[in-house]
Amino acid sequence: MAQKKHGSAIVVGAGIVGVSTAYALQKAGVQVTLVDRVGPCAGTSYGNAGAVVDGSAPNALPGFWKSIPSMLLDPTGPLTIRWSYLHKIMPWMIRFLQESRAERVEHNAKALKGLSKSAVRDWSKLMKDTRLEHMMQDVGWLKVYETEEAFRATENLRDIMTRHDSKFEVLSAAEIRDLEPNLNPIFKHGIFQNKSRFLVNPEKVVHGIADAFKQLGGEVVIADITSIKSESGGIIATGTSHTITADKLVLCTGAWSKNLAGQFGANVPLDTERGYHLMLPIIPEKGISRPVMYGEKSFVLAPMERGIRLTSQVEFAGLELGPDFRRVRKMVPFAKKMLPALETEEQDVWLGYRPSLPDSIPVIGPSPNNPNVIFAFGHQHYGMTLGPTTGRLVRDMVLGKKPSIPLWPYRADRFG
Ligand SMILES: Cc1cc2nc3c(=O)[nH]c(=O)nc-3n(C[C@H](O)[C@H](O)[C@H](O)COP(=O)(O)OP(=O)(O)OC[C@H]3O[C@@H](n4cnc5c(N)ncnc54)[C@H](O)[C@@H]3O)c2cc1C
Repeated sequence: MAQKKHGSAIVVGAGIVGVSTAYALQKAGVQVTLVDRVGPCAGTSYGNAGAVVDGSAPNALPGFWKSIPSMLLDPTGPLTIRWSYLHKIMPWMIRFLQESRAERVEHNAKALKGLSKSAVRDWSKLMKDTRLEHMMQDVGWLKVYETEEAFRATENLRDIMTRHDSKFEVLSAAEIRDLEPNLNPIFKHGIFQNKSRFLVNPEKVVHGIADAFKQLGGEVVIADITSIKSESGGIIATGTSHTITADKLVLCTGAWSKNLAGQFGANVPLDTERGYHLMLPIIPEKGISRPVMYGEKSFVLAPMERGIRLTSQVEFAGLELGPDFRRVRKMVPFAKKMLPALETEEQDVWLGYRPSLPDSIPVIGPSPNNPNVIFAFGHQHYGMTLGPTTGRLVRDMVLGKKPSIPLWPYRADRFG
């Protein structure tokens, strides 16, 4: 490996978090090898809704537990648990519910805000640097609600966002129509985050950043890493037909990070909130201009470059069980109700794995056992949003620079 000013690093995982980290490090003078078992954007970063959300809130909110039974009983509801996975997800669920206590919600919201407050700025800079600006649109992020009841249920969310200075506007039916005239005029309330951005093709963006990384002299290696060891100050990553050595290693393997992190003393309660997408044809004139979430059903329609992407809710079923595409297909009639001009001929269907911790906060920081192994995973519903910010923070950690925010809320040993 060529000698660079700031030594060398292996970045494992080439989703949005891995490519952003690899790019930031290589640009700062670290010689980086980016390793993925399939290649760039093979995981969850491929099929998301592309929203770069300006402002966020944790998923476990006060009183959330009350809505769980009705969500689970509704066959078109926003949450499902495969019965064969119930015993495995139970400990995670219990922790998740503990995180809905008022003082935990405040803590988690503050920690998330610490990251999300610079997400749009970090994305804009990365897009400019990599000449991908045309892939990001300044259109905001809209949620719409048909019933008073569903809108009232967002009160806690709005309170938390207000307290943590995450800006949003509440829209009337007329204001929703002004923004999205082709939506069915059944929606009485909207929540609009107008500073949010939209990536029209997340896959192309991740590949574009990986290409820019290679142009800076970074190397991409295809290998399934099974073991990480430290030896005489350096780190050795071993995988299928490859052994790679460097001064530091950054673990960005999303939902697949638990076992590798365990090799460095971290017992993180990482699980996956699975989510599906379904691609539908582009509607040239009667479509939508931004990602829009149907509040009652928690699915999103996003006007991607290749067509309308319907991204679905949350399924707890771990990493091994096969997909159940009926979940997302059941949303098609609701999507048609939402956007009457929608053509419903399915083009493509996909399952992704959000990497989620019960407190909704990613792990970003050194491993408990070795400061040269750095973790960057667990970005749950906001990984696309927070990838470039995470890359910048990891870069500063590797260079020994003072981080722009305190990093203790994201440490790996916070779960005890
Ligand atoms: C339906 C859906 C919609 C979403 N919408 C949004 C949205 O609008 N906005 C937003 O901000 N977020 C969204 N998300 C969340 C976001 O997509 C994820 O948080 C994010 O993609 C996670 O990125 P990552 O880089 O951590 O993981 P991934 O993209 O999953 O990348 C991990 C990589 O690690 C590799 N890997 C794993 N194990 C190994 C190994 N042992 N050796 C080598 N390589 C390995 C995999 O091949 C993969 O390429 C959505 C998610 C879903 C499912």
